[in-house]
Amino acid sequence: MPNPKRRHSNCRTRLRRTHYKIKAAVVNHCSRCGAPSRAHRVCDNCGYYGFSKGGDKKGSEVFHKEEF
Ligand SMILES: [Zn+2]
Repeated sequence: MPNPKRRHSNCRTRLRRTHYKIKAAVVNHCSRCGAPSRAHRVCDNCGYYGFSKGGDKKGSEVFHKEEF
């Protein structure tokens, strides 16, 4: 295993860590009610996942867009 010969400076460590940053959360909009929601999550506003009802029986009731 190669080992580092010299300890590098605080400056080099800090320059490397300038690239470590958190990304802004991606906000999508619910296809049913249009409220902002996270991807792959049940909507906080209406409780639907896509066009199907989330919760206890996931995907058991599937609604089509014309029924709203
Ligand atoms: Zn919704």
